[in-house]
Amino acid sequence: MRKFLLILWASPTSVVALLIGLIGLPFGTHVHRKAGTLEFHGGLVEWLLSRTPVDAAAMTLGHVIWGRSQAALDFCREHELVHVRQYERWGPLFLPMYLIFSVTMWFRGKHPYYDNPFEREAFGENNPNDHACHKEP
Ligand SMILES: [Zn+2]
Repeated sequence: MRKFLLILWASPTSVVALLIGLIGLPFGTHVHRKAGTLEFHGGLVEWLLSRTPVDAAAMTLGHVIWGRSQAALDFCREHELVHVRQYERWGPLFLPMYLIFSVTMWFRGKHPYYDNPFEREAFGENNPNDHACHKEP
């Protein structure tokens, strides 16, 4: 029951990412279930990720994770699963809060991505991928 409520709380973002992922299926995007999420990679999702400001290898949107490739998903999964837990805490507030933190960091002269508290938690001290997850492995 608790897991269902967490999925429901994060669902506004998950549904949008799911629909875009599904649209990509005829255009080379693949999907599979992993660790309580739906992972999409390749095709349309890869194209979208290649246009992000940080050249993202992967991106979490609720309980949906996009990756440029299966290797990118495998490489970034630990980092992205931290973001899944963050979506479960913040639900539909996650993306606005992420943006507010990024803008705040930028105004303070810090990096809007690396210094964002959500990213700092996801990179963590024990994550062996460190800051490499925003690029193709
Ligand atoms: Zn991240």
